[in-house]
Amino acid sequence: MATVVMKFGGSSVADADKIKHVAGKIVARRGAGNKVVVVVSAPGDTTDDLLAMADKITSNPPAREMDVLLATGEMVSSSLLAMALSAIGEKAISMTGPQAGILADTNYTHAKIKKVNPKKIRAQLAKNNIVIVAGFQALNHKGDITTLGRGGSDLTAVALAAELKADSCEIYSDVEGVYTTDPRVVKNATKLDYLSYDEMLEMSGSGAQVLQSRSVEVAKKFGVEIHARSTFSQDQGTIITSEEKIWREKMETLLVSGITFDKNQAKFTIIDLPDIPGVASKIFCGLTKIGVNVDMIVQSAAVDKKNDISFTVGRQEMKKVHAELDKIAGEFKFPQVVYDEHVAKISVIGIGMRSHSGVAAKMFDILCRKGINIEMISTSEIKISCIVDELDMLRAVEELHKGFGLSKKRQ
Ligand code: ADP
Ligand code: ASP
Ligand code: MG
Repeated sequence: MATVVMKFGGSSVADADKIKHVAGKIVARRGAGNKVVVVVSAPGDTTDDLLAMADKITSNPPAREMDVLLATGEMVSSSLLAMALSAIGEKAISMTGPQAGILADTNYTHAKIKKVNPKKIRAQLAKNNIVIVAGFQALNHKGDITTLGRGGSDLTAVALAAELKADSCEIYSDVEGVYTTDPRVVKNATKLDYLSYDEMLEMSGSGAQVLQSRSVEVAKKFGVEIHARSTFSQDQGTIITSEEKIWREKMETLLVSGITFDKNQAKFTIIDLPDIPGVASKIFCGLTKIGVNVDMIVQSAAVDKKNDISFTVGRQEMKKVHAELDKIAGEFKFPQVVYDEHVAKISVIGIGMRSHSGVAAKMFDILCRKGINIEMISTSEIKISCIVDELDMLRAVEELHKGFGLSKKRQ
């Protein structure tokens, strides 16, 4: 008997009809002779609604209480889905993350899974039950419930698939799979049949919300193949697998597989810093200490023993960054700090870049022909990112999508 992990996202369990539809899909999968473990997200926008409710009470809620609040969303879907299954005569039992044996550290609101102890899940599967686990939540060593960061139900599904050595890890959402770019934004985006873990990691990390980055990291580490597919169709979705398998099975790969975009960007530039050792360290250690995650960093070459440093952070961090720079300013006599919160990041991603050069040049050429100014550039082995004015973002994505020939089918 094969073990199958099926994860349904918030849009798939948004109302009673959708929950009944999901129940039907689960029954069909189990009917084929499988043991089924289901992971669910909170219905629709529940998590955002809970965050908004907390914000009306206080702008600085205790993280422990925030996790107690957020974890309730997933329990709503898991219990309702178990009811829907039992209403159609199926044996099903819901479990919270802690009951399912998912153990995490004490980083409330973005905890990391430390261990999965699926004893209770196994016992229920042995009794022929369908097990429905509330995603996104875990238990820490203090006995508190914690959550695993936004999109964390994907991580619950992958971690369970790894621990149970599941034969299949299926992540169902409102799109048919992973596309060359967000199909809700670019109409001629194409569904990808295969994607390597590294490409998916770069896509998730640079703005494609379809899978949580951390879940892809864990999938890569434990060799869990993910099948990202739609709740609302029977079609094959996208297989996220190892690069070795993609090469071995001679699956066709593209030079560029995906284009992502992210408006949650703010750019800071500190002008005329003294060109002496310790300046960058002071700035970025300071930002790390206050928990600000810096994305791109560019330092200009020194002229007259002075240089400029530009960096980007999430827009929600702007206040914190300002306060920290003010603190350091006295020491280095910062002449000027300028910032721009109307920027966006666009990235092109593809494992083909490992073996082919010229992608960056082509990207810059496409943008230049459309008069789009590049404000910052950063590269990794399989990704090139540019910061542009947010007003140019969509045009840039569409032009790059066209320019790299992504409207054509991959396989
Ligand atoms: P779920 O609620 O099921 O977890 P998400 O909303 O987290 O689903 O992810 C699905 C959404 O991701 C889609 O509705 C789509 O708009 C967005 N998305 C962004 N980039 C991509 C991409 N490259 N491929 C597919 N979907 C994408
Ligand atoms: N409900 C959580 C969120 O909205 C977790 C998830 O959907 O995976 O982030
Ligand atoms: Mg999601």
